Amino acid sequence: MRLVLLGPPGAGKGTQAERLVAEHGIPQLSTGEMLRSAAAAGTAVGKRAKAIMDRGELVPDDVMVEIIAERIDLPDCANGFILDGFPRTIAQAEALDRLLEERGTKLDRVIEIAVDEGMLVSRIETRIKETGGVRGDDSVETLHKRIAVYRRQTAPVAGYYRRKGLIATIDGMGSKDEVTAAIAEALGATSAA
Ligand code: ADP
Repeated sequence: MRLVLLGPPGAGKGTQAERLVAEHGIPQLSTGEMLRSAAAAGTAVGKRAKAIMDRGELVPDDVMVEIIAERIDLPDCANGFILDGFPRTIAQAEALDRLLEERGTKLDRVIEIAVDEGMLVSRIETRIKETGGVRGDDSVETLHKRIAVYRRQTAPVAGYYRRKGLIATIDGMGSKDEVTAAIAEALGATSAA
C-alpha cells in the first residue's frame, strides 16, 4: 500500500504514521526526519536544509524529489510506504506521480488530516514545552511561518489529489484513537471498493 499523509504542522501525521507502520508493516518515510538526520550528520545537503527548516521555509523541490526517489527504491519499500511530509508542493506531487509511473506503480490513497489552526498552535506549544524545543523549527514564530507556508504551498496539494479521486479527509480534532479509527475506516473502504 502506497499512502500519503497530508496535514498541517502539528496535525498528528507522525503519530498516525507510526500506528500505520505497526498495522501494515510498511515504512514511514518522514522527509522532516530525513532532513533532520542529514543536518545532524552534517552532510552538505543537511547543512543547507537546516538553515531553511529553521526559518520555517521549504527545502527546494529538486532536493526533496531526489531524496524520495532514492528512498523508495530501497528494498523495505517494495510492498509500499507511508509518506509523511511529502509531497508539500504541487511540483512535488507531480514529480511523485512520475516517479511511481516509471516504476509501474501508483499511490493507493491520500489521507488528509484536517484540524483548525488554533489547535495547531496549542499542540506545538505543548510539544515545545515537553521536548524543551529540541527541534530548531519548534518555536512559536516559526510555527506561524510554517502554517502560512502550508496554507499557500501545501494546501493546494489536497485539491490535486481530490481531482484524482484519491483523497480521504479525516477529522483530526478527535483523540488520537478516534483519528486512527477514522483512517482505518477510510483505508478499509478503499480495499473493499
Ligand atoms: P511539520 O510537519 O511539523 O511541519 P516536518 O518534520 O514534516 O514538520 O518538516 C520540517 C521541515 O522540513 C519543514 O518545515 C521544511 O522546512 C522541511 N521539509 C520537510 N519535508 C519537506 C518537503 N517535502 N519539501 C520541502 N521541505 C520539506
